[in-house]
Amino acid sequence: MSKIEKLIEIEGFDDPLEFLSQFVHDSVCPGICSIPGCDYTTDVEPDQEGGWCEHCETNTVKSGIVLAGII
Ligand SMILES: [Zn+2]
Repeated sequence: MSKIEKLIEIEGFDDPLEFLSQFVHDSVCPGICSIPGCDYTTDVEPDQEGGWCEHCETNTVKSGIVLAGII
């Protein structure tokens, strides 16, 4: 399962389009840590590619919109 699929599942959506239509015009978007095995999620800016993961203590949280390749 890819990170975007995992994030969508965690957030309770059925598919990426539903997820994107919910957040693409918002000022915050759910993000997920990009490190394999870490499922830390937090709200980040939609274009965030290096948000803080409190689990890994690194700047590895990417927004769902970035993961989906829209930005
Ligand atoms: Zn992490």
